[in-house]
Amino acid sequence: MTSGTNDYDVIVVGAGFAGLYALHELRSQGRRVRVFEAGDGIGGTWFWNRYPGARCDVESMYYSYSFDPALEQEWRWTERYATQPEILRYIEHVADRYDLRRDVQLETRVESARLDEATGRWHVHTSDGRDWTARFVIMATGCLSSSNVPDFEGLADFRGEQYHTGRWPKRSPDLAGKRVGVIGTGSSGIQSIPELAKQAAHLTVFQRTPNYSVPANNAPLAPEAQAAVKADYARLRAMGNGFGPVLEPNPYKVSESTPEQVRAVLDERWAVGGLGFLSAFTDLLVAPDSNRLVADYVRDRIRERVDDPELAEQLCPDTVYGCKRPCIDTDYYETYNRPNVSLVDVGRHPIERFTKTGIVVDGREHPLDVVVFATGFDAMTGSIFKVDIRGRGGELLREKWEAGPRTYLGLQTVGFPNLFFVTGPGSPSVLSNMINSIEQHVEWIADCLQAMDERGAAAIEPERGAEDAWVEHANALAAHTLYWSCSSWYLGDNIPGKPRVFMPYVGIPLYRQKLAEVVAKGYEGFAFEPLSGRG
Ligand code: FAD
Ligand code: NAP
Repeated sequence: MTSGTNDYDVIVVGAGFAGLYALHELRSQGRRVRVFEAGDGIGGTWFWNRYPGARCDVESMYYSYSFDPALEQEWRWTERYATQPEILRYIEHVADRYDLRRDVQLETRVESARLDEATGRWHVHTSDGRDWTARFVIMATGCLSSSNVPDFEGLADFRGEQYHTGRWPKRSPDLAGKRVGVIGTGSSGIQSIPELAKQAAHLTVFQRTPNYSVPANNAPLAPEAQAAVKADYARLRAMGNGFGPVLEPNPYKVSESTPEQVRAVLDERWAVGGLGFLSAFTDLLVAPDSNRLVADYVRDRIRERVDDPELAEQLCPDTVYGCKRPCIDTDYYETYNRPNVSLVDVGRHPIERFTKTGIVVDGREHPLDVVVFATGFDAMTGSIFKVDIRGRGGELLREKWEAGPRTYLGLQTVGFPNLFFVTGPGSPSVLSNMINSIEQHVEWIADCLQAMDERGAAAIEPERGAEDAWVEHANALAAHTLYWSCSSWYLGDNIPGKPRVFMPYVGIPLYRQKLAEVVAKGYEGFAFEPLSGRG
């Protein structure tokens, strides 16, 4: 094995929940690990997304690590859905508790990773001009970490302030007395709009596609409620496919329920609030008629929340419920009842251009002092492709995935031995509670490295047939869903030129079963390269 100050067993790219846990797990195995993080702090999503109103939408008690029962017991969440500062404090606590910071190099972007086939080692180049080598590279770069600002005409001319929700400044801008425009009504828009409306003199929302949102019913977490969860944590964490009891699936289809039963299920889930609508019926995302009943219910509720009936109609989506990632909110629709908030429909008349002083839609300029881009991310592959990753024969990963990502289990891709993705495309990732999936992948990778040591393997890489079969299988699962019926970032629709491929794997329990089977069958579908001959 080569050695030297710049040589590591494992290089991890990114210091969010995934990178930090990978560091902890792999260092606990005695490996030399170095983490590079582009930001000047740890936390990933929760370091970057500091916009007003930013919170998790999976309940805090379940949106947290489960790997150490002592950590689980000692941390106290204050609200049903924790705010961004609280989640960041939690991540910082974890980093200090497990002494992680000493192996994390901040303000350092990984620019390239190139496989040296002769030695089997990865050569990594970072933005500080240094070169590193490692046997393994783990891409913990995040599914939603590459922020997207559309290429609007005239944007460079705009003289006002501009902020993307996913790159919000640490010192939050003072919006008092200002005319603020928000572009985008996905989760980030829906969370930030009520808060921005409280601060701005006037808030103009530029909405291209309305979204479904269900009240979060956020509230302080009573100590007794928290203690009750902690007393039964493992069982409760396993409920709702890892989302906790609120997402515990109702095992019935809409099509086999009476209208009264459908109403009762939806009323109950509405009263509880949160993402539970997603698991209200098993046919929600496969049967258009069933989906329509649920969508009608949510639309009726939106109408109840907005005073102006015409405005309410503009806010009612006509897409399939759950086709885009559903949102949960605190007073989102009620915000449109405020006198200082207006909605501009940019679905019918797209944004024409920016001027020095505002945004032009349908020939009319909306004067603005500040523009907030709640325009989302180049999801799942954006941050991976920003790194120049070259595997066997110098093949560029971006080129290999030109027609869509190809992985085996979302963990690895043929031609790039010893390179792993955490929550990569082809795994449930963004359809799951991400922390569960992160823990599952990191632990799988750690076990795999251990198994490699035991069998004396130098490298692991999927077999071509296994990868092809996995891509086909994942596509077949997605093909039966209604996810194709709308434009979404799951499909790459928000990024011009991105191939239209459904990137996450549909089916959390099935995925769990498949992963376990692969390991039980001696890492079926993976090829191990023996240690002999490797320097
Ligand atoms: P990230 O947290 O995205 O961290 C990746 C890190 O890698 C970033 O810090 C980035 O700077 C760094 N990086 C990327 N490329 C490079 C490079 N080349 N070199 C160096 N560093 C690099 N999921 C849920 O399950 N529940 C929720 O409630 C939830 N809420 C969310 C709210 C928001 C506003 C957003 C944007 C996402 C949310 N998500 C949620 C998804 C969230 O991204 C994951 O839950 C989780 O935080 C991802 O952790 P990660 O470590 O995989 O990636
Ligand atoms: P998003 O869901 O992709 O929403 C982007 C919004 O910008 C959409 O409304 C989109 O409209 C609009 N938009 C994009 N380009 C536009 C253009 N050229 N003109 C006008 N409008 C344009 O992004 P996001 O809201 O940041 O959320 C991304 C994901 O992050 C979420 O789905 C979720 O997984 C996660 N997240 C979670 C939370 C949470 O609640 N915990 C909060 C934020 C984010 P179209 O719909 O018409 O494309």
